[in-house]
Amino acid sequence: MSRKVFIYANTTEASARIEKNLRTKLIKSGLQVHEEFNKDTELILCIGGDGTLLNLMQDLEFPETPVVGINTGHLGFFQEIPPEKIDDMIYQYNQGNYTLQSFSTVKDCVTTADGVFRHTALNEIAVKGLPNYPVHLNISINASFIERFSGDGLCVATPAGSTAYNYSLGGSIVDPRLHLLQVTPIAPMNSIAYRSFLTSLLLPGSDTLSIQPCNDADSQLTLVYDGRVAEYKQVKEIQITLSRKKVNMIRFSHLSFWDKAKSKFL
Ligand code: NAP
Repeated sequence: MSRKVFIYANTTEASARIEKNLRTKLIKSGLQVHEEFNKDTELILCIGGDGTLLNLMQDLEFPETPVVGINTGHLGFFQEIPPEKIDDMIYQYNQGNYTLQSFSTVKDCVTTADGVFRHTALNEIAVKGLPNYPVHLNISINASFIERFSGDGLCVATPAGSTAYNYSLGGSIVDPRLHLLQVTPIAPMNSIAYRSFLTSLLLPGSDTLSIQPCNDADSQLTLVYDGRVAEYKQVKEIQITLSRKKVNMIRFSHLSFWDKAKSKFL
């Protein structure tokens, strides 16, 4: 049986150099490097930073195929393998000496006067109003009205994304083994004129967050999903839930999530 692998890389010079080297080594080890990703691909090798992994997921529409991340970026939270460990990585992979770490993803459904639009994200989906203006949004959880939110917007993060934008907003770091969504306010307004929640809300994985513009002036919304931007006019409702799609990263080390969080953030 042929063992097909696919390489996805960002466009830096360092990644191009590593890709060339990796390609030769993979072939030598008996793996077939294919130019296209398809359902027979047994492994994806992603070269770049965490942002490259986010792009891979968007471009390949969230494949559940296992991914090895070779880090040529800055932080490397998802992307674990340093380029100098490529030989060992190929050996351990071929020996089957690894575990899979699965990450939940988040999805939205945006209903506008022009139709319905959907996105999926690994880190987060942020809902914002017009640049430089506060937005007023009615927030419901499972169809129960919670409050009228006023501020720059809301960031709805997965546990995997809890260390990204969510963390900069004051949200909590969440172990990816937990099945939940974290809703963190972005610059919430809190005065006698407007009352908005100030800390993160944690929702069970089965819950649905619904967001409705309070009036027509608030219906022009921007969605930022893993850094990609989509703008909509005449939004009626946005529903956000955990998605069934999982991102599966191959792990060769026995470092726990918290060992890693400590080394990168704490
Ligand atoms: P970028 O501006 O090039 O990089 C954002 C930084 O976030 C990079 O250092 C990246 O790591 C890191 N990162 C990505 N996912 C992460 C995660 N799950 N945990 C910890 N750090 C993570 O943009 P990008 O690379 O396209 O990434 C898009 C992400 O940027 C969004 O999903 C959002 O979470 C984040 N963001 C953060 C802020 C903020 O903190 N104020 C604002 C907007 C967006 P690498 O260096 O390894 O690539």
